[in-house]
Amino acid sequence: MILSNPFKLPVVDAFLRCYAETLQRLFPDCSLEIKFKPLDDADNEYRDIIVRLNKTIYLSEKEIGKLGLTPPEIFAAIAHELGHILYHTHPWAYDAEERADTLAAQLGLGAQMITVIEKIIASRRFRHITSLLVKRIQYLTHLA
Ligand SMILES: [Zn+2]
Repeated sequence: MILSNPFKLPVVDAFLRCYAETLQRLFPDCSLEIKFKPLDDADNEYRDIIVRLNKTIYLSEKEIGKLGLTPPEIFAAIAHELGHILYHTHPWAYDAEERADTLAAQLGLGAQMITVIEKIIASRRFRHITSLLVKRIQYLTHLA
């Protein structure tokens, strides 16, 4: 797999220094090219934090700051998005989010993934899916 950070986002650089080797080891046959890009405020109508479009992961510095995510929590959120790509989750699959969370746990970021989800719940920005978010915390707790 190729992981590229053309905008040299510092948090992505740090993530890749810590986890690129482990990712290559977990997915030795993966030939995907995955890119990281900033999500500018003007393009962020839905106030997304970290989102993925095909094989590009976008990070909103502003929304990450508003949520108060620490660097290890940002790493967990990046791992979650990579999990969607590398495990080829289907958006309508009942376990798509849990599958993506599995990759965060595999990188040793399960506890941080839980606190990310707790911060999202506390922010009340995705109120309509709180029960799904709680289900993810329960799943991650059982993985640990
Ligand atoms: Zn997800």
